[in-house]
Amino acid sequence: MGVIRRAGMFVLQVNPILCDGFGHCAELAPELVHLDEWGYPIIASDPVPMADVGSYQSARYAERGCPRQALHVAKVATPVPITNVDVRPPTTVSRGRRPL
Ligand code: SF4
Repeated sequence: MGVIRRAGMFVLQVNPILCDGFGHCAELAPELVHLDEWGYPIIASDPVPMADVGSYQSARYAERGCPRQALHVAKVATPVPITNVDVRPPTTVSRGRRPL
């Protein structure tokens, strides 16, 4: 039995052209979707960690439950942290000739 790792981030995106503004998504993913005064979804553009399993499942529910297929869960590429980089200047000095 393996362990499922949930690395990376996701964002829930809405296609405003397809959206009908009935706000069903706000019921399916209330922690991610808020509605404006006309009922259209307002979704934060900040990426959410995939490790937040509840939010990810809500996003997938909303994606599948959207009657206009206007929602999309997009995985966000996160930069790989650079480790073990030596930022000190080199300690050896080359005494060779400089190229012309
Ligand atoms: S469920 Fe889909 S169509 Fe309805 S408001 Fe949300 S994004 Fe728009």
